[in-house]
Amino acid sequence: MKRTEISSLGEFAFIDKLTQDIQLKNKSSILGIGDDASVIQQEKNSQTVLTTDLFLEGIHFDLVYTPLKHLGYKCVVATIADIYAMNALPEQLTVSIGLSARFSLEDIEELYEGIKLASSIYGVDIIGGDTTASQTGLLISMSCLGRVRPEELCLRSGAKATDLICCTGDLGAAYMGLALLEREKNVFAGETERFEPDFARKEYILERQLKPELKLSVLEGLKEKGIKPTSMIDISDGLASELLHICKSSKVGVRIYEERLPIDYETAQMAEELGLNITTVALNGGDDYEFLFTIPLGLMDKAKEIDGLRFIGHITEESLGASLVTRDGTEISLKAQGWQ
Ligand code: ADP
Ligand code: MG
Repeated sequence: MKRTEISSLGEFAFIDKLTQDIQLKNKSSILGIGDDASVIQQEKNSQTVLTTDLFLEGIHFDLVYTPLKHLGYKCVVATIADIYAMNALPEQLTVSIGLSARFSLEDIEELYEGIKLASSIYGVDIIGGDTTASQTGLLISMSCLGRVRPEELCLRSGAKATDLICCTGDLGAAYMGLALLEREKNVFAGETERFEPDFARKEYILERQLKPELKLSVLEGLKEKGIKPTSMIDISDGLASELLHICKSSKVGVRIYEERLPIDYETAQMAEELGLNITTVALNGGDDYEFLFTIPLGLMDKAKEIDGLRFIGHITEESLGASLVTRDGTEISLKAQGWQ
């Protein structure tokens, strides 16, 4: 494959190559890449939300099994998930990268293919960034601006006792995808006799790890039905950890039910293959990028009509703490694992 050294281009030609075909779609994006700063027109009666994420090679991703295009795509999804979790819509994105001489122009073009694809699918404009050399590895940082009407904003802090706890999609799949990739990593590295990694009937968990998508249809369903969540958060560090965030911010307790945890068949199979407890996987697996939110109990019937929305438990008084009710009716207290 062709390899163009970035040093042969110089910084400006390099940035130009990566960004020349970027077009702005949102009305609020007034000026994008090319000047000292970008310009955004704030609308009346709307609030701006801002989030930043940092992704480091060796910590957040492993290029042995992550194609650069997928990596770019996933970083965008992970970043904008935080905006959606505020019940806002993402509009502008900045992308900063640090790269060592190991990476060629073609590599970073592949990364940007993924970044641009996700940006266009989710309707966010790339309006700037920064580029620098790094001594080792690849570093990606993204910031996203979003917009929300003040009355629509959802924080972690609004949950009330008796509210229903809901989530989108299913849990633990991305973590099982990662576990599978890690298991097969020695095959990639040529350390075993098998030279084809074994991914048969594991497509779903791999896709959840390598190309996550956000369940926007559920958020749109809520809007259509006039249901405003009392609290919301995206599930990036595992359900248990996010529930504890809601408990802390809202000063409430939670009770969720093991039998209600949404788990895909492939996830369950992989967990069994690896000798892992499936409930632990669903509670603590990372990278789900599903949404967790609470709604008033009285809106249950309306919410039931939304495809892909799951009820997993309810909010309790703070003094009751955070617990999981197992299939046999035992209550276990929830612990966060967070990032590792
Ligand atoms: P400055 O010297 O002001 O930091 P740069 O030369 O770094 O400007 O950047 C020139 C333009 O290209 C700016 O508009 C900046 O936002 C944009 N830019 C730089 N790096 C990236 C990148 N990795 N992705 C997208 N836009 C970038
Ligand atoms: Mg710069």
